[in-house]
Amino acid sequence: MKIVFNKPHLTGKEMHYIYQAVYSGKISGNGIFTQKCQNFFEERFHFKKSLLTTSCTDALEMCAILANIGPGDEVIIPSYTFVSTALAFVRQGAKIVFADSNSQNPNIDVSGIEALITPRTKALVPVHYAGIACDMDVIMKLADKYNLIVIEDAAQAVDSYYKGTPLGSIGHMAAFSFHETKNINAGEGGMLVINDERFLNRAEIIWEKGTNRAEFFRGEVNKYGWVDTGSSFLPSEIIAAYLYAQIENIDDIQLKRRKIWELYFEGFQDIKKAGIQLPFIPDYATNNGHMFYLVCSDLRQRTYLIEQLKNMGIYAVFHYQSLHKSPFYSNRHDGREIPVSDMYSDCLVRLPLHYDLTEEDVNLIISSTKKIIQQYE
Ligand SMILES: *Cc1c(COP(=O)(O)O)cnc(C)c1O
Repeated sequence: MKIVFNKPHLTGKEMHYIYQAVYSGKISGNGIFTQKCQNFFEERFHFKKSLLTTSCTDALEMCAILANIGPGDEVIIPSYTFVSTALAFVRQGAKIVFADSNSQNPNIDVSGIEALITPRTKALVPVHYAGIACDMDVIMKLADKYNLIVIEDAAQAVDSYYKGTPLGSIGHMAAFSFHETKNINAGEGGMLVINDERFLNRAEIIWEKGTNRAEFFRGEVNKYGWVDTGSSFLPSEIIAAYLYAQIENIDDIQLKRRKIWELYFEGFQDIKKAGIQLPFIPDYATNNGHMFYLVCSDLRQRTYLIEQLKNMGIYAVFHYQSLHKSPFYSNRHDGREIPVSDMYSDCLVRLPLHYDLTEEDVNLIISSTKKIIQQYE
C-alpha cells in the first residue's frame, strides 16, 4: 500500500481542450484559452486584470519590476515562505527584511510589521499560507500610512476569502500558482493579478517582452515596438487549454478538498492533548482546502512521525526552512532572530491532500498518525 503526498487531479477535459488548441493552429500565448481563463478569474474574483504566466515565480518577478524595485529598496517578506517570494525581489536588487510568523498559524505576524518599516521600505509581501488569509486590513492600513505597495503571494490561495473578499483582489497586485501541487493546476503555471490601475498598461508590456503588442492588437496604436523592459512571461495556449479544463471544475475540486480537510480536522481533535497543534483559521478567513498540516512539539517528534508514516507507505512531508537562515541569504540577513518561523520550520508536517484521496485513505492516515504519536517517547 502507498498513499502519495500529492497527485495532480485530471478533470477529464484537459486532453480535449489541448487537442482543440493544437488544431486551432494558434498555440503561442494570449490566444482563446488564455482569454477564457483570464476572463473567468476576473469575473469570478473581481480582479481588475489577470494575466496568465508560466509560473507564480514569474508573476512575482513581474510584480517586482512593476513596483520599480531597485538596489537599496527594502521589501518585507515572511521568513516562512517559498524561495520565490523573496527571489523575485532579490533579482531586482532589493534587500529582503524578513518578518516572523504568528504563533497561531504560519502567516505573517502583523503586529511586528510596523517596526520593520524604514524610509527605504517599498513593498510588503504577505503570503496566504495554506490558502488562509493574512490580516489584510492591518496590512493595507500600514501600506496607506507608509505609501507601500502590497503584493499578495496568493500562490496557495485560489478561491479563498478575507472578510468575504477574494484573496488576490485586495493588494495592489497578486500572484497565483498553478503548479501541480496547487488546487488548480497546469503542471507549471501562474497568474499575475493587477488591482491598482497604475500598473495596468505596463503589466501587459512587461508580459509581452517589453513591447506594446497588446495595445496594437486592440487597435490602440498603429504599430508596435520595444517600449520597456520585460520578458516572455506568457504561457502557450497548450497550458491555458489544460488550465481551462481545471477551472471549469473549480467548485467540484474545492468541495472535495475541503471535505478531506474537514475529515482530518475532526479526526485529529483529540491529538491536541499530545501537544500537537491543528491548523488555525481566524474568523476573517476561509479555508480553500489547499493543505492540511500538523504542528509537532519539536523536530525530533516530527522526524519520527514522518519516518514511521513512510514505513507504513504514507508520504507526509515537512515544508519551508526559514529563508533568513538559507545558504543563499543568511549572510545578507540583518541578524535578527525569527523564532516562530524557525519553530514552523522544525515542527510543521503536511499530510497527503489531493482530490483522489478516499475517505478510507484519510481515516487510515489519521489512525496511523495517532498510533505513532502514542508510541513516541
Ligand atoms: C507554490 C508557491 C510559489 C511558487 O509557485 P510556482 O508556480 O511554482 O512558481 C510561490 N509562493 C508560494 C507561497 C507557493 O506556495
